[in-house]
Amino acid sequence: MNAVIPIRSDAAGCAEPTVRTERGQREVFCGLTGIIWLHRKIQDAFFLVVGSRTCAHLIQSAAGVMIFAEPRFGTAIIDERDLAGLADCNDELDKVVDKLLSRRPDIRTLFLVGSCPSEVIKLDLSRAAERLSRVHTPRVRVLNYSGSGIETTFTQGEDACLQALVPVLPTLDAQADKRLLVVGTLADVVEDQMRRILADMGITQLDFFPPRNSTDLPAIGPNTRFLLAQPFLADTSLALESRGAQRLAAPFPLGAEGTTLWLQAAASEWGVSKTQFEAVTHAPHQRAEAALARQKVHLAGKKIFFFPDSQLEIPLARFLSRELGMQLAEIGTPYLHRKLMSEELALLPPGSQITEGQHVENQIDRCHAAAPDLVVCGLGLANPLEAQGLTTKWAIELVFTPIQGYEQAADLAELFSRPLRRRIKLAA
Ligand code: SF4
Repeated sequence: MNAVIPIRSDAAGCAEPTVRTERGQREVFCGLTGIIWLHRKIQDAFFLVVGSRTCAHLIQSAAGVMIFAEPRFGTAIIDERDLAGLADCNDELDKVVDKLLSRRPDIRTLFLVGSCPSEVIKLDLSRAAERLSRVHTPRVRVLNYSGSGIETTFTQGEDACLQALVPVLPTLDAQADKRLLVVGTLADVVEDQMRRILADMGITQLDFFPPRNSTDLPAIGPNTRFLLAQPFLADTSLALESRGAQRLAAPFPLGAEGTTLWLQAAASEWGVSKTQFEAVTHAPHQRAEAALARQKVHLAGKKIFFFPDSQLEIPLARFLSRELGMQLAEIGTPYLHRKLMSEELALLPPGSQITEGQHVENQIDRCHAAAPDLVVCGLGLANPLEAQGLTTKWAIELVFTPIQGYEQAADLAELFSRPLRRRIKLAA
């Protein structure tokens, strides 16, 4: 089932991208994958997947390591007895949680993470979280969200996790000073850089969400202004708005241009003068542009095709076309949140082709017809496409790697130039 809809762009002179919506077989990871970067960020949280052995294997292989130290994620296995209704899953879950929390005094927030199997047997994890919170509060707060792979894509795991945290954020008084909240998991090094740049502009009333410790949750209220650092946080954004916070519309901080426009949104809201803004951003912007020029040699004129996977596709396409001169064959995205993406869409080159959703066979045919130099796709598609002679980049790497901000702009570009250079070496 396909539909093609032109969408309006308010930017003068910018032709409207064409949006095709597709439904069919999809090739994406599930939301459990988000645990891999969330558990690294929130250092006193534990993610307990309530799922099957398949879910446990997915997490282990996505983590990509053998775990020798005590990990901060695990799986409460739903086995045949549970599926057949022969055991009380809630009793079993309570026992697993009691054992875990008595062994791990470092855990301050426990996320019960739902999966396809827990949804199939209709295990009510929100009630389980309430029940367990009553037992373990104040030492441990128990929350729940779903990482199920039914009708979702892998970055929605983070969105669901942060959305689950929004109701427990403390309330910022209506009389309090205006505060900026940067929303989306960022590597600590990126967070530190952004904090420094914003502080140099005079924006020091600043919090990051999620925080490094779940006991340091930021307070929010009507004087909170928030900037999304990741484009896949639509539900979190709505939840924050329902608590009175206001989103600052901006492109995402990918590349030199994206980072400057993202910072500009905060600077405008705080009334930072043009002179001060330039004094703070000029040098890092110049450094990023110089580093990008070295990557542009490998990327300019090359054609790229995005399969829908991470929800980063539209900001990446904007960055790769505008700052590195790449040609955009097709920009696949699992979902198109027009409101969150409006600043990005306005910056895409005229006539860009966006596909929302997926019909994987049709898309593979279009990909071959377009003959791109580089394909961005999930792990499941990468090997077959490589075997057919295409050069691929795994979308999931873009979420595991620090890519936001000025200092990371060239690293981001290198993630795309590396597979092209490797292909040239192999062919030589
Ligand atoms: S949640 Fe669903 S899609 Fe994800 S690993 Fe478990 S069974 Fe598979």
